[in-house]
Amino acid sequence: MTPITYELIKTCKQTGARLGRVHTPHGSFDTPTFMPVGTLATVKTMSPEELKNINANIILSNTYHLWLRPGEDIVREAGGLHKFMNWDGAILTDSGGFQVFSLSDMREIKEEGVHFRNHLNGEKLFLSPEKAMHIQNALGSDIMMAFDECPPYPATYEYMKSSVERTSRWAERCLEAHGRPQDQGLFGIVQGGEYEDLRKQSARDLVSLDFPGYAIGGLSVGEPKDVMNRVLEFTTPVLPSDKPRYLMGVGSPDSLIDGAIRGIDMFDCVLPTRIARNGTCMTSKGRLVVRNAKYARDFGPLDENCDCHVCKKYSRAYIRHLIKCNETFGFRLTTYHNLYFLVKLMGQVRKAISDDRLGDFKEDFFEQYGLNKPNAKNF
Ligand SMILES: [Zn+2]
Repeated sequence: MTPITYELIKTCKQTGARLGRVHTPHGSFDTPTFMPVGTLATVKTMSPEELKNINANIILSNTYHLWLRPGEDIVREAGGLHKFMNWDGAILTDSGGFQVFSLSDMREIKEEGVHFRNHLNGEKLFLSPEKAMHIQNALGSDIMMAFDECPPYPATYEYMKSSVERTSRWAERCLEAHGRPQDQGLFGIVQGGEYEDLRKQSARDLVSLDFPGYAIGGLSVGEPKDVMNRVLEFTTPVLPSDKPRYLMGVGSPDSLIDGAIRGIDMFDCVLPTRIARNGTCMTSKGRLVVRNAKYARDFGPLDENCDCHVCKKYSRAYIRHLIKCNETFGFRLTTYHNLYFLVKLMGQVRKAISDDRLGDFKEDFFEQYGLNKPNAKNF
């Protein structure tokens, strides 16, 4: 019996998007959902209480970073990641694969795993499917991710084919090395770049291993948006309808809606929190760079259509002032608002699926957000 189960509630008649619910040992959450990212066992500037206030019920944390600091043994001694960070909702941990391939340029990929250098001090390290499972078992996340290879974009067909095959072999080793299958669910990660036959092969290989959920990785790495949508269109039909599907590293509002329309249930991205710390906000009228001089005397809210506590109590002029002065409170306010905006957007997406009108919702949202204009930015 897997600790992670998926309940399909209904499918949108207009778009095919799925409304569902995922059950975990730390509570259930409705899907499609957006998961805030807490790389170092904290969603930067947000307390667990604030995450609860914005209705986040699953967050993501990072195997690679927690392995280096503070070390998975300390987290285990604390009683696991939930206790260590005082978060009683669900936690998903990635496998560290993405960081090994994105943060370290000194790496050597072998069948047994990846040799690379620590991005902090250059120390030599080795990560393998077995090691990634060992660390995640110590962290005690509800959902763990298989250790995969994240090939660069673009990659040749030949490279991608051997990479996909290795990722499938590694997935099998992850299942074998998983020490806590009774209370932690392990998801497989579909790779294959933009190649249809490789994506399908990867998905079929992983489905044959019967994971409790599946992720689609290797997207949002610089490819055009229509490539991502096309990949989702030919990949999700290969995945079983009774398991959750997670699109990794995607967090722009348009991609969340487009992903949901193509059958995705879970998303994560550092985008809303990262841009918040640069003074960029997501609003119902599109992105707003609150740092800009034109907001110096603007005493209105970040988003007049937002009912978060930041928009109720603080002005653009004040938030701009804080951000310009590098005041921590400014980063807290923009981060809170951006996460509230995305979590609420996913609630609106679920309502639209329930009402069989996600296509209409998308049209209205894109128009309001300014995404129908030529040269529209993604967020
Ligand atoms: Zn707000």
